[in-house]
Amino acid sequence: MKARAAVLRESPGRYEVVDVDIDSPRDHEVLIRYVASGLCHSDLHFLDGSHAGPLPMCAGHEGAGIIEEVGPGVAGLRPGDHVVASFIPSCGRCRYCAQGRTNLCQLGAHLQNGPFPDGNYRMHVDGEDLHQFLLISTFSQYAVVSENSLVKVPEDLPLETLCLLGCGVGTGVGSAINAAEVRPGDNVLVVGVGGVGMSAVQGASLAGAATVIAVDPLLFKRETALQLGATHAFADLAEATDFVQSISDGQGAESAILCMGSPTNVDVGEAFDAIAKGGTVVVTGMAAISEPPGIPVHLLMLAGMQKTIRGALFGMCSPPVDILRQIDLYRAGKLKLDELITRKYSLDDINVAVDDLVAGRNIRGVVIHDS
Ligand SMILES: [Zn+2]
Ligand SMILES: [Zn+2]
Repeated sequence: MKARAAVLRESPGRYEVVDVDIDSPRDHEVLIRYVASGLCHSDLHFLDGSHAGPLPMCAGHEGAGIIEEVGPGVAGLRPGDHVVASFIPSCGRCRYCAQGRTNLCQLGAHLQNGPFPDGNYRMHVDGEDLHQFLLISTFSQYAVVSENSLVKVPEDLPLETLCLLGCGVGTGVGSAINAAEVRPGDNVLVVGVGGVGMSAVQGASLAGAATVIAVDPLLFKRETALQLGATHAFADLAEATDFVQSISDGQGAESAILCMGSPTNVDVGEAFDAIAKGGTVVVTGMAAISEPPGIPVHLLMLAGMQKTIRGALFGMCSPPVDILRQIDLYRAGKLKLDELITRKYSLDDINVAVDDLVAGRNIRGVVIHDS
């Protein structure tokens, strides 16, 4: 079948919205009609060339839609079901899934390889195979996707909102709750408050942090963070560090969560200096591939102050578990999702959405597909 999709042919480059060909679903796959897709900073990495991946690709990795057709062997999903597409697949059986560390599922090995695990593609453009970004390609009206990439969600909630659960919200909320392990009374720094950081602010607040300090150079983002659970906001980390030390007898924050689009070694080093003894720096944003090894951290202080620097992929969330928990929090009014969406775009205007993201005009921009 044909579908309209945003395709990236070269990097650096711009999206082209074109007709693509979609195969029929094979074993354990479904055909999904995407309703909406968020635009995440990780999409920018491939547009500006700071990450490399197989091209041409159909991008987008934060979507929600409706199952149109199921292939052989699919259990638990039927046509008409509403689903969130998670950029992290989960098989439920590999050593990581079995340990409950589903975000590290072995299927992740296929995320950047190009073809599906069977060596074939499901999407084509002008007769050429088209890489499905993170296996899901949510910037297409339709896609064939593994059942392992989908989480069935309740049908009474808007998919235009739930799409955010496919990447940004879990990445942020989980970075605070699972990776920083925020406890009641903590002082928490969240650096970079776009869609991910704003979710980390909410996660820290939900976990009971006494002080949630948002750090962002953009006034609009600082003001939004204050509406979504941040207690304080500063334009740069140095000011925020002075403040957190002033309220903690000079000790610093229990955790610092780095949610900027492209964290650097220097950012991690500064966050390391901003946390207290026993504190944790969580690196959530994906650094540019060009960032060399070498975090400027005094090694003696790492052990001597028992500090931790940890990376977090999808906020260490288990998609089948945590997406449904986040929906429960949304229903309860405790996790704000609609407030994260600054503007909605048609697929044809996807490059306007990109420009708005680059310019910092959006917390989250969401592409709404034609039905
Ligand atoms: Zn993302
Ligand atoms: Zn697995």
